[in-house]
Amino acid sequence: MSNKPVGSLSIDLDNKWAYLRAAGNADWETASSYLPMATQRIVDLLGELNLPLTVFLVGRDLDDESDVDAIHHFDQLGQWEPANHSLNHLPWMHTMSDSEIQSEIMTTHDRIFSRFGTRPVGFRGPGFSCPTEVLRVLIRNDYSYDASIFPTSMAPVARAVFLARTNLQGEEREKAKKLYGGFDAMRNPNRPFVRQEQVDGQTHRLREIPVSTLPFLRTPIHFSYVTFLATFSVTLAKLYFASALNLCRLTGTAPSLLLHPPDFLGCEDDADMAYFPGMKMSRDAKLSFMRWALSKFANEFNVLTMREQTETLAMAQTATPQPATT
Ligand SMILES: [Zn+2]
Repeated sequence: MSNKPVGSLSIDLDNKWAYLRAAGNADWETASSYLPMATQRIVDLLGELNLPLTVFLVGRDLDDESDVDAIHHFDQLGQWEPANHSLNHLPWMHTMSDSEIQSEIMTTHDRIFSRFGTRPVGFRGPGFSCPTEVLRVLIRNDYSYDASIFPTSMAPVARAVFLARTNLQGEEREKAKKLYGGFDAMRNPNRPFVRQEQVDGQTHRLREIPVSTLPFLRTPIHFSYVTFLATFSVTLAKLYFASALNLCRLTGTAPSLLLHPPDFLGCEDDADMAYFPGMKMSRDAKLSFMRWALSKFANEFNVLTMREQTETLAMAQTATPQPATT
């Protein structure tokens, strides 16, 4: 057993259409998929570093045979876990009716089971949106964790940047004004915790594994943000990431780090993606940076899937000595 502190690694496997739709691009539905290229690169790098991965899948892509084949590339990893990232990747679940929320979660749940033979136990809401009804659906369907909380101080900044850059209009623009929450996102813990929810008259527990941010300052430390910093200065980005891992270790924060497919794509790979932050780097520069960052994470932490991390936390809780009764 490893003496290193525990961390976990996940990817939100958002396809190009989700990025184009969020940018208000009218042609998003006919966008080509970058999943075959991205998944192979992810598997090559993670395989080399012997890293496991939790993959948050969007149900819409599970209707497409070539995307499903691309996702099966993850079978080459020593360990991976398919998890649920909603059906249509609409980042405003907090505006949906209960039946829409049920359908967004359960259609993807059923597709994951039929495509990969595994019942997902983890969910992350697109846009880190997690109204109470989401938790109720997860509890009713025996999920063991939610991963929709992003406890960052940058939420209002991220929303302002999103609104300045997108062409979304009308009702969708109004809904986007609530994205990422306000400064109250910071009131959430920056480490795993247990949530309690009333379902059908009973109290149930569900573990929450937030996307880690920098301890104290609560600035983002996920890879899309760090690669964005690297477009300005690779040295600064490396210093920031190394300090973030150090601070996590010093404060006993198990880092749950998040990837996105563009973390493995360079500017020459897909002209449609050139608009997005972090996409100015060349493929070689991006992959070299990611190899450095992921090896550092693998060397310093015992990296698990989020399912394994949840099981480890549950076991630790069970093993905690209870007050003597005799
Ligand atoms: Zn996503």
